[in-house]
Amino acid sequence: MNGGLNVILLGPLGSGKGTQGKLLEKKYGIPHLSAGDILRSEVKEKTPFGLKAKQIMDRGELVADALIIEMMNKRLSQTDCEKGYILDGYPRTIEQADALDRFLNKLQKKLFSAIFLEIPDDEIVKRLSGRLTCEQCGRSYHAAANPPMAEGFCNQWGGRLTHRADDTEGTVRSRIEVYKQKTAALVDYYEKKKLLARVASVGGIKAVFQRICSLIDEKGMADRP
Ligand code: AMP
Repeated sequence: MNGGLNVILLGPLGSGKGTQGKLLEKKYGIPHLSAGDILRSEVKEKTPFGLKAKQIMDRGELVADALIIEMMNKRLSQTDCEKGYILDGYPRTIEQADALDRFLNKLQKKLFSAIFLEIPDDEIVKRLSGRLTCEQCGRSYHAAANPPMAEGFCNQWGGRLTHRADDTEGTVRSRIEVYKQKTAALVDYYEKKKLLARVASVGGIKAVFQRICSLIDEKGMADRP
């Protein structure tokens, strides 16, 4: 693979980017980098950036491009990213996508694929209203579709599971709007670059995971010199 398995998971909130990102991290041995998780850890640590970001996140709006680009460039420059990464929630605007392009070009690396997880709108609200998130590692569960082994606690590290502050009905609605206005355009953006792959994010976590892995493995074989 040319310069690593650099994958973007695209898709609206609740499409399974976080859940699939964690599974892909384990299978391919590359980090799952969620812009939202990085921001939430800044919020938890009450850094000046985190305190500013929290107000924006609680309203369901996007944090300024320049700040996110700087935050992600810094994270993507760490040594664990050399073999690739699974990006979740980044890029979210055309400006961020252009910045990622510039970042990769500078390192003479390429994007492997932008995988678009497609789900119907009514499924989004259903998924988010039952979503529980680990306070420690950010793993997501669903009260009905993907319950934890011990109620209220994460399977991985035993962290407490809570509802995310921005998973309230009002904020979910603003986030869907923001997605449609700013992020949905990235589907066209990567389609034009012939980097887009579509995956139906329905039918259970395992089935979706298998679809994504087949896509990655087939493309990986085809791209071999
Ligand atoms: P997520 O965990 O991906 O749902 O992100 C939660 C919130 O963090 C979003 O609603 C935004 O307020 C903020 N956020 C995450 N990623 C980005 C990004 N790439 N650009 C701007 N804001 C972001």
